[in-house]
Amino acid sequence: MKLKIILLSMAMITLSCQNNSPSMSNEKNTQHTNNPYYSRTDTTVLNVPDAEWKKVLPDSIYQVARNKATEMAFSGKYWKFEGLGIYYCAVCGNALFRSDSKFASSCGWPSFFQTIRKNSTIYKTDNTYGMSRTEVLCGRCNSHLGHIFDDGPPPTGKRYCMNSIVLDFVPDKQ
Ligand SMILES: [Zn+2]
Repeated sequence: MKLKIILLSMAMITLSCQNNSPSMSNEKNTQHTNNPYYSRTDTTVLNVPDAEWKKVLPDSIYQVARNKATEMAFSGKYWKFEGLGIYYCAVCGNALFRSDSKFASSCGWPSFFQTIRKNSTIYKTDNTYGMSRTEVLCGRCNSHLGHIFDDGPPPTGKRYCMNSIVLDFVPDKQ
């Protein structure tokens, strides 16, 4: 019970920080300065070893993208976010989702019903933790993004359950 309260208040702190966040895009630019593989225009498939990613990625991104960690539900920056724009892979800059394919899900992670391009993501069977799931990986850099489930809304019926930390949101220009 105590733990539940702690988790809840952490989620609320995250939320209130989100509202006060001044400029998301500036943060992102500094985040990628050490990453020579990041590009929002180059779609060439990357084959970069984990040792190299470890050098160029912030540890929080590395743990999810390359070690397949999962961020805590309701803790990420995008689970309840409703901005209009495009979500890119935070590791390599590959375009993944448009905001109009995002839907309100109670699961605590940002959820989408389809990718921006058919080959934006690739899929792999994941039988870890005693579950049979389908892992979603970035189609350009092969980083772990989350999982896909069959309980999403129309028209696809799919739910891409993603980790916020491996997504970069870029708002549409007004
Ligand atoms: Zn990527």
